Amino acid sequence: MIALRDVCKFYGPFQALTDVNLDIRQGERVVVCGPSGSGKSTMIRCINRLEEHDTGSIIVDGVELDEETRNIRAVRQDVGMVFQQFNLFPHLTVLENLTIGPIRVRRMGRAQAEALGRKFLDRVHIPEQADKYPAQLSGGQQQRVAIARALCMEPRIMLFDEPTSALDPEMINEVLDVMVELAGTGMTMVVVTHEMGFARKVADRIVFMEAGRIVEAAPPEKFFSAPDSERARLFLNQIL
Ligand code: ATP
Ligand code: MG
Repeated sequence: MIALRDVCKFYGPFQALTDVNLDIRQGERVVVCGPSGSGKSTMIRCINRLEEHDTGSIIVDGVELDEETRNIRAVRQDVGMVFQQFNLFPHLTVLENLTIGPIRVRRMGRAQAEALGRKFLDRVHIPEQADKYPAQLSGGQQQRVAIARALCMEPRIMLFDEPTSALDPEMINEVLDVMVELAGTGMTMVVVTHEMGFARKVADRIVFMEAGRIVEAAPPEKFFSAPDSERARLFLNQIL
């Protein structure tokens, strides 16, 4: 479903990714963790081409990410992304935030888009918030809207970049619960997070990054109990 081969990425002279190799199967849930600056965001942003890699290859759902814009558009529709900052449109209502993509990008009629929007608002358990503006919602509710908005594009892959890091502690679980439910639907998910409880519950594999490289990739049982690398051990000692 997703294949990264010897991927390198530079920001000017700084090498942010070095020889990254990763294969993610359809329906697989991968949690990415590692210290700040290790390249986690850069890696997942390369998967939906918010960043361009410099060398190596990235294939997403059979499409090689290269210079052709035609490919990029197809990939963006296939790959939903949720960010730490929810990035909702502040001047649009919740429902309008959900329908704008289907209407503008998928050329859907308004009625159909609204039905879809309401379906996914139900899915994230806030159907009653449809007509509010983002600023009228709690952080946890806003993040659930952001998840619903991504789902309205009916992607085959969902990427999450620290989706709960900007939330007050009491709101973290309501967002993680929605993500656990999404995992239950068989969605292919790549989640950058330090929520190791979530990782334990949901991840098929944990990828640990350090200084732009994947240092370790293992199922949670193995990763938490007996990581191969000293680096991962130190990291786990710090966050657990
Ligand atoms: P964090 O846990 O803090 O979010 P991260 O693992 O997501 O960190 P990245 O954001 O991928 O790390 O950054 C990897 C490295 O690349 C860091 O050293 C960062 O400073 C650098 N970097 C990221 N984006 C840019 C950019 N646009 N220009 C220059 N350097 C960048
Ligand atoms: Mg990051």
